[in-house]
Amino acid sequence: MTTLAAARHELSIANRILAHEQVFDSYGHVSLRHPEDASRFLLSASVSPEQVKPEDILEYGLDGQTLIATTRAQYSERVIHAEIYRQRPDVQAVVHAHTEAVLPFTVTSVKLRPLLHVAGIIGDDIPVWDMNHHFGDSDLLVTTTEHAQSLASTLGQGRVVLMRGHGFTAAAASLELAVRVAMYLKVNAQAQQAAMALGPVTFLSSGEIAAVNALMGSPKATSRVWDNWAQRCGAGTIMQGVS
Ligand SMILES: [Zn+2]
Repeated sequence: MTTLAAARHELSIANRILAHEQVFDSYGHVSLRHPEDASRFLLSASVSPEQVKPEDILEYGLDGQTLIATTRAQYSERVIHAEIYRQRPDVQAVVHAHTEAVLPFTVTSVKLRPLLHVAGIIGDDIPVWDMNHHFGDSDLLVTTTEHAQSLASTLGQGRVVLMRGHGFTAAAASLELAVRVAMYLKVNAQAQQAAMALGPVTFLSSGEIAAVNALMGSPKATSRVWDNWAQRCGAGTIMQGVS
């Protein structure tokens, strides 16, 4: 199997993991920079994430346009991925989701901050991008390059940007790490809401977050986590025979 074929398989598994773990609902998408050409990325045609198969995955340029003409419906927010790959050469994978547990932190002044050691990878200071501040009243969908440039500039060099009344976008140096960041963003959001209902919360210190990232922030830090999630969503066997 070629590197590109393996990447298509891994990306379809990432879709299924994020759907099964309820980071995604019927919406949400995850992409991967092309393994052989940094000016391209891989993203599924418009299919619900738990249905994505390797053959659904299309190749895009960094302008968000498909490189081969297709009649397939496409995700309207694909420019999010394109612009982050364009602005961030270090990024290899991008997740965009509307995860329920994260949404309250997009519409209140309460900052989402890491309080679990495994969630230190989400970053020390997570910004919130409010589309209305930049573009006025809209349907809140990020569908133009101008929208995506504004979102990407708020993300800056970080891994996560929350989007007011919408969801979040995460970017990382590998597909495995991007999936892990999105997953623990959800877990941390749930734990933070539960903890705040009980009383004042002790968050990770900046030094603890740095130490966690030194250990767990590398692209392939915890392959057993990926393997376990893939098995749990029933996609583990898809990768059998792929090296
Ligand atoms: Zn969205």
